[in-house]
Amino acid sequence: MPRRTKILITLGPATDKEGVLTRILGAGVNVVRINFSHGSEEEHLNRVKAVRDWAQANQTYVGVLMDLQGPKIRIAAFKDGMKIQLSNGDAFVLDADLDENSGNKHSVGIAYKKLPQEVQIGNVLLLDDGKIVLEVTSIKDNKINTIVTQGGILSDKKGINLRGGGLSANALTEKDKKDILIAAKAKADYVALSFPVSGDDVRETKQLLEQAGCNAGVISKIERAESLVEDVILDIIKESVGIMVARGDLGVEIGDAQLPAQQKRLIKLARSNNRIVITATQMLESMIISPTPTRAEVFDVANAVLDGTDAVMLSAETAVGDFPENAVKTMHDVCIEAEKNPIAKISHHRLDETFTYIDETIAMSAMYAANHIGARVIATLTESGKTAIWMSRISSGIPIVAMSDKVSTLQKATLYRGVHPCFLSTRKDWAEINKAVIKRLQVGDFVDDGDTVILTKGTYTDKSGGTNLMKILTVGDLEY
Ligand code: PGA
Ligand code: MN
Repeated sequence: MPRRTKILITLGPATDKEGVLTRILGAGVNVVRINFSHGSEEEHLNRVKAVRDWAQANQTYVGVLMDLQGPKIRIAAFKDGMKIQLSNGDAFVLDADLDENSGNKHSVGIAYKKLPQEVQIGNVLLLDDGKIVLEVTSIKDNKINTIVTQGGILSDKKGINLRGGGLSANALTEKDKKDILIAAKAKADYVALSFPVSGDDVRETKQLLEQAGCNAGVISKIERAESLVEDVILDIIKESVGIMVARGDLGVEIGDAQLPAQQKRLIKLARSNNRIVITATQMLESMIISPTPTRAEVFDVANAVLDGTDAVMLSAETAVGDFPENAVKTMHDVCIEAEKNPIAKISHHRLDETFTYIDETIAMSAMYAANHIGARVIATLTESGKTAIWMSRISSGIPIVAMSDKVSTLQKATLYRGVHPCFLSTRKDWAEINKAVIKRLQVGDFVDDGDTVILTKGTYTDKSGGTNLMKILTVGDLEY
C-alpha cells in the first residue's frame, strides 16, 4: 500500500548540496516548498526547475508550493551585527526612530513603524518565536518601553509577535505582490498566504494571482490569533483551496498549550469543508542537528496523521538541517505506520448531508461502494481534480488514483491525502477508456488480476465538473 499522507519539504541551502535533492525526492517527497522569506528570485526559479526536471525524468509528479513572506514584524539590526544578552528585569526599548543598524543592549529599531501605535501598556511581546518575552511598561511617541520577563540572547531581525494577536499589518506586502509574479513565472501549483486575518486577504490574493496569469491554489496559513474566530476561519477556509496549521507563529500568539486542540479543530474544519490541510513547523525539529528524531516528535507526526492531515511539513529540517534525507525517511516511516491504525481508515464524513453537485454525488457514492465491496483501487478520471478532493475527504484505506492529461491538475493532486496522480491521455470511446485505465493501474502496480476497481468518469471526458458515471470493473476480465 502506498503512503497516503503527503510529505511537504522546504528547499534551501541543505537541499542544494550535490545529490541531496535527487535523493530526498527519490525517498518520497510529494510537494516542495519555496520559502520567499529567504533567497533570491534566481535561486527560487533554479530550485523549481531542478524539481520539475527530476519529476519529468522519473515520470512522476511533485507539487510546488511557494510561500509568501507576509507581514512578519521584526526588530531591526544591532550595531556591527552583535548579539545582546537580555536578563529578566532589564529595561529594553523598541524604538521606531532608531536607525536600522544601531541596536544595542538598551534599545533596537523596528521595521514596522506603526507598532508603537498598536500596542498598549501591559501587552506581552514575544521575540524570536517566543524565546524572549517583553512586557510593555509605557509608550512614548515612537518608543515602546518594556521590561524583560524572559531573557535570552537576541540578534538581528528576529520576529516580534503580540500575545493574543491583533496587529493590523496587511497580509499582502509589496514584496509579496512582487513574489506573486515570480510564482506565476515558476508556474507554482500552490501559493501560501502568510498571516491572513480575513477572507478578504484571500480574495485579494486570488485576484492578484489571476492578474498574473497564475493558476496556483491559495493555501492560507493560519497563524494569527484573531483568525481563529469561527466565522472568520470559515470565511478563510471557504475562500482557499486549503490551509496550513502554521504552528510556529500561531503557537507564539495563542500559547503552545492551546495548539493541539486548535490543530485538531482546524484539520476537521478544513476536511469537512472539502479543503486540504497541511500540518507544519517543528515536526522533527531536533533532526536539524540530529540523525534521529525524539520520541515526542514521532508521536507528533503520527498524531497529525490520525487527526486527518493531508500533508506533514518539514521546514528547517530539510532547508538548512544536517540530516535532510533522514528527516524525509523518518516522516515516511512514521506516516506509513500511523496509517495502519483503524482510526485513519474510518469515516463519518458527511453522513447526514445532502449533496449539491452530480460529480460530488458520484464521488461520494464511489467511496461508499469501494469501502463496501472491498475495491482495491478507486480510479477517477478528472479534469480539475475536484472529484479526487471530494473522495479523499473520506478516510479510507483504498488508494484513489487521479487520472488526467492535465499536468497542472496532477501536480496539484500531489497534496491530496490518499490520492496518486497518474497521466492518462483522454479518449472518446468508453471501452477504450476502461481498458486504458486498467492497463495504467497494472503498469503502476496498483492492481493484480481479479481485483475490483471502481472507476468514475464523465460523459464528456474533457469537461470540468462533468463526472456523472461510476463503473465497477474486475481486472483481467476481457469484457470492460
Ligand atoms: P513560517 O510559517 O515558517 O513561514 O513562519 C509557518 C509557521 O509559522 O508555523
Ligand atoms: Mn509563520
